[in-house]
Amino acid sequence: MTCHSDPELFFDPMREDEAVKVCAGCPLADGCRIRGLREDYGVWGGSTPLDRAVARFKAATPATQARALAFAVVVELAAERGHHTPDEVAAATKLPRWSVRKRMEGHGKERDAEVAWLRVEGASITEIGLRLGMDRNEVNRALVRSTQAVALAA
Ligand code: SF4
Repeated sequence: MTCHSDPELFFDPMREDEAVKVCAGCPLADGCRIRGLREDYGVWGGSTPLDRAVARFKAATPATQARALAFAVVVELAAERGHHTPDEVAAATKLPRWSVRKRMEGHGKERDAEVAWLRVEGASITEIGLRLGMDRNEVNRALVRSTQAVALAA
């Protein structure tokens, strides 16, 4: 089988493993992988969107905004594939666990601050949840954490 016989397989995030197996037996895989480096979607030469996001993150200069953005994409794609905790993301991406933990905790703090700021501006818990893609419990927990952080800093 090739990608020409079932093109949709290569753009279905739920069937990535199947597509990767097809690529493993394809004579075009090397060129296809290079071609896919520019693509955000689909399996190309056996590389998934998450593989490419990790490669972009590794290639970005340390301590730059581009690297932070690249990491945010890695976390988003990992979450879409069911990897939510730092340990799960590290296992799925083969990035160092300590690095993933540190970055995800930093990302969490930024999001807590965003939740607190929206609340100060008068947004309801439901509005905040809708705007940031969180459920009510997550919003409430973020508010508790940010209140505790302010109390500790005072
Ligand atoms: S390597 Fe490229 S051409 Fe070959 S099956 Fe995979 S996606 Fe298709």
